[in-house]
Amino acid sequence: MKALAPTHWPTIAKDISGLAVPPNLADYPATREAFSWAEERRTLTGLPGGHVNIAYEAVDRHAAGDQGHRDAFRFVQADGSIHPLTYAQLSHETDRFASLLRTLGVQRGERVFSLLGRVPELYIAALGTMKHGAVFCPLFSAFGPEPVRQRLDLGSGAVLITTRALYKRKVARQRDDLPSLRHVLLIDADGDPEPDTVDLAAAIADVPDYGPIAETGPEDMALLHFTSGTTGRPKGAIHVHDAVTAHSATGRYALDLHPDDIYWCTADPGWVTGTSYGIIAPLVHGVTAVVDEDEFDPERWYRILADQKVTVWYTAPTAIRMLMKAGAERAKQYDLSSLRFIASVGEPLNPEAVVWGEEAFGLPIHDNWWQTETGGIMIANYASMDIRPGSMGRPLPGIEAAIVARDADGEPIVHDGEAQLVTDPDVSGELALRPGWPSMFRGYLNEEERYRKCFVGGWYLTGDLARRDADGYFWFVGRAGDVIKSSGHLIGPFEVESSLMEHPAVAEVGVIGVPDEVAGEVVMAFVELKPGFEASESLKRELIGFARKRLGAAVAPRELEFTTALPKTRSGKILRRLLKARELGLPEGDTSTLESGR
Ligand code: AMP
Repeated sequence: MKALAPTHWPTIAKDISGLAVPPNLADYPATREAFSWAEERRTLTGLPGGHVNIAYEAVDRHAAGDQGHRDAFRFVQADGSIHPLTYAQLSHETDRFASLLRTLGVQRGERVFSLLGRVPELYIAALGTMKHGAVFCPLFSAFGPEPVRQRLDLGSGAVLITTRALYKRKVARQRDDLPSLRHVLLIDADGDPEPDTVDLAAAIADVPDYGPIAETGPEDMALLHFTSGTTGRPKGAIHVHDAVTAHSATGRYALDLHPDDIYWCTADPGWVTGTSYGIIAPLVHGVTAVVDEDEFDPERWYRILADQKVTVWYTAPTAIRMLMKAGAERAKQYDLSSLRFIASVGEPLNPEAVVWGEEAFGLPIHDNWWQTETGGIMIANYASMDIRPGSMGRPLPGIEAAIVARDADGEPIVHDGEAQLVTDPDVSGELALRPGWPSMFRGYLNEEERYRKCFVGGWYLTGDLARRDADGYFWFVGRAGDVIKSSGHLIGPFEVESSLMEHPAVAEVGVIGVPDEVAGEVVMAFVELKPGFEASESLKRELIGFARKRLGAAVAPRELEFTTALPKTRSGKILRRLLKARELGLPEGDTSTLESGR
């Protein structure tokens, strides 16, 4: 396999000597060397008898102490007003929810689903469910009836907490197809529930005290997160209570959380980031977590950052690109001086975006990598570590990452039961992780074989292609299924997309490989233009020329089409496989996580 060219973006050097808040991870090699999961577990409180419960670590242990009066959450409502919830209040509210579950006869290990926007009830239900030892499964409220039904069915949901409108539009007509769904709790029934539903406020009004929290074991199931595969039905990734050990470590090292932080994770809990880092990690560290109940809007977001004096902000590349579209001058109209650390996850973060952070906020954006199955951040750029724009950074303490070599068919190469690792720098292969970290998924619900196939030759295979440079920084190349082979060159769509993104006319871009008789595949780009630019033949030629100049003719797109709506998942990832299926007239596969209207 050919080595890939290094990036032309200069390294962003870090100097931590004068920082008012010294980073938790000041010395990467030393922290890695000293780290152990056993030691990390000791930073948590635990329950008697070796039991562990995420909700206890996140809420109750803080509620009892000085931290009790601190805001755990600050919900920014649609009209901008703030609904705070202290650790003590959250402890009380989650107790009541746990007690209601017990009153309803919900057993340990049974699944409680939510279909809600980012309202307090969702967060209380998540933590209350775990307190009771039941399993929480959040769904995007924007899902249509079919993905909702499919997930409730696959996950054998016993309880659903939702609103009247969502219930009527997305669940009521399918109730007969969901025999395991015993209770539907409406948060807005207002004394008049729909048939076969429960008025949550009335039912919870006089529940008895919960008493001691459920004594869950570290390996007991706590969370279920559905994720879409390239083919087949959605997969329910199982996470256990011990995952909190990884949320604690990664919150400290990758997000640099300090006790006084005001932290904002913009992700919806329907995506694993919104649970691991929108609920668990910040609360475990006892910080105040901001939640925006409304949708993205540049002015609104800047106002929240300024008014709430957010110190640590965890967001996503799509949002950053949208803010870039609105222009750095917008950011400068707000007092964002409280911001100390910005991180991003979920899809490749273009080098241009990393650097734009410096222009707009005076801070670079720290990319990090993980996925539903890993439960927590695995590879990251740290507050203290030089950034190589375009790189995902280096593995977390406690995490061993490697590049596994692949054969001509894209299969991992295994000798005597051990996967063959790529040892040369800058050569791509499949990104792999050594199993055994606490937040690793413990299965795909009821799909043992699909789970087993993820582990090959002693490694968990992530399905992503990456390369590692000589200094141990990892670089994303693409999803294994997205990579393009053209005239013998392995081409990562991300490289091509990043290059086109540097053109002033380009707002967003998705790149795929399309079959070609001579080259095997050629690169094709779908481009969304920024406002003020018109699609034309001459602009098309200009863009292809622009990319060719940067990437060389072998890698640059041969074909380019303008579009006004790239298909994306709800978490903002461009669905290249869908672009490809549409271009080639192939079946579109599972599209349940597709953003509506696309
Ligand atoms: P999900 O399970 O929905 O969170 O998606 C996980 C996938 O998103 C990964 O396997 C990657 O393909 C992609 N992803 C997540 N973070 C990054 C990142 N920092 N850079 C590139 N791709 C990423």
